[in-house]
Amino acid sequence: MEYVQLGKTGLCVSRVGFGGIPIQRIDAARTVSLFDTLIECGVNYIDTARGYTVSEEYIGQAIKGRRDKFILATKSMARTDEAMALDIETSLKNLGTDHIELYQVHNPSLEQLNTVISPNGALKALLKAKAEGKIGAIGLTAHSLEVFEAALECDWVETIMFPYSIVETHGETLIAGCREKGIGFIAMKPFAGGALDDADIALGYILNNPGVSVAIPGMYSPDEVRKNTSVCPHEFSPSETERMLKLREELGTTFCRRCGYCLPCTAGIAIPNVFTFSAYFERYGLEDWGRSRYLSMSVQADACISCGVCETRCPYNLPIRALLKEKHSAFSKDS
Ligand code: SF4
Ligand code: SF4
Repeated sequence: MEYVQLGKTGLCVSRVGFGGIPIQRIDAARTVSLFDTLIECGVNYIDTARGYTVSEEYIGQAIKGRRDKFILATKSMARTDEAMALDIETSLKNLGTDHIELYQVHNPSLEQLNTVISPNGALKALLKAKAEGKIGAIGLTAHSLEVFEAALECDWVETIMFPYSIVETHGETLIAGCREKGIGFIAMKPFAGGALDDADIALGYILNNPGVSVAIPGMYSPDEVRKNTSVCPHEFSPSETERMLKLREELGTTFCRRCGYCLPCTAGIAIPNVFTFSAYFERYGLEDWGRSRYLSMSVQADACISCGVCETRCPYNLPIRALLKEKHSAFSKDS
């Protein structure tokens, strides 16, 4: 395992970290033994979120008696001071600790980012918790380039998490910006939400970028942990570059990179979210969670009026209208 400084946070992290979404598929006891394997393989960076149902709690149980082996990072969708203060307390309780090394603002829109930094916004609670020693560094996670760009200009942002994989490379210039500014960069969805399965290619490619502090593949089995950690350290070979280009081409016509260029949709559909939830549904094995998130969208894919505007904006020429129809019918089938 290779270890690097996470920006200027003072935290020394394993370059392969643990993405805590998929443990929703297992139970607390299996999470405990999964964490034995994380230690065996040198993984110290643990990512979770308030929004990942039981994930924080399972992790809390798994680190009992060995808290010092791990760097905990969680995140909250709270946007106000009061809601964030409550979420920080809940995270501390769930994780069974009195200190969380990294607490992140979870995927705000530009408008929500303004709320976060407003006088009674979530940042107030984060700064207070930091001053009290309840949390260490403050970070932000994003899915859109405009939020990533805005976060780079916020002096309180110590880490940024953004999707990065062989098919989602649109953040590369901003990842370099993180490196220049000493902001830690956390690569989420390195396997493109489950669309890739070759660890050497998927992880090798992003770890080859010196701007990436840590990549956080979601994992729920010891074999996955062993396979993914064996990639690091890794030098990307010419034959792997060839394989990567081939894979990228194969996925190119159907894979949404969540860049958001297709927005706004005439009917108000959050198009990239439909594809994100669909990946949870179809590829992560999190059917119920993916479906419930889709069904909670205020405007679902069947609202599409086929105006076609989004397709003229998509740089990857995705057949968005047809894909939305397909996803909606998959989500609407009886479970
Ligand atoms: S549909 Fe196209 S434009 Fe919209 S987020 Fe996906 S890749 Fe980007
Ligand atoms: S074609 Fe459908 S999804 Fe695309 S902009 Fe029009 S209404 Fe929205």
